[in-house]
Amino acid sequence: MSSDCLFCKIAARQIPARIVHEDADVFAFEDINPQSPTHVLVCPKKHFASLEHAGAEEEAVLGKLALVAAKIAKQRKLGSYRTVINTGSEAGQTVFHLHMHLLGGRTFSWPPG
Ligand code: AMP
Ligand code: ZN
Repeated sequence: MSSDCLFCKIAARQIPARIVHEDADVFAFEDINPQSPTHVLVCPKKHFASLEHAGAEEEAVLGKLALVAAKIAKQRKLGSYRTVINTGSEAGQTVFHLHMHLLGGRTFSWPPG
């Protein structure tokens, strides 16, 4: 836990959020500013800032993020969906606790903006 991290505070229930999944390693909650009908953030409980800060010990949890996102997508019968990890401010990262966006429920264009 990083004491000044928004997502660590959400995991610790110090800041309210609509949590939709929690297990020993991963938690997921509804994005406060959804960009699609489903917009869930899937996070490791262990704090690390981004993929740039991930070491070999993060290999398992990084895989688990994708599987939890897929499970939520299946529960919601999304069919098509997008999973995104923004790394660095120029890529759009604004919260420096690694998270995977799960976006679904509408059509997406490519390339992303
Ligand atoms: P990123 O820009 O990739 O770092 O994604 C950060 C995401 O966190 C954005 O989509 C924000 O809308 C979302 N966010 C920021 N604060 C909160 C909050 N308190 N609860 C839920 N989602 C949040
Ligand atoms: Zn954190």
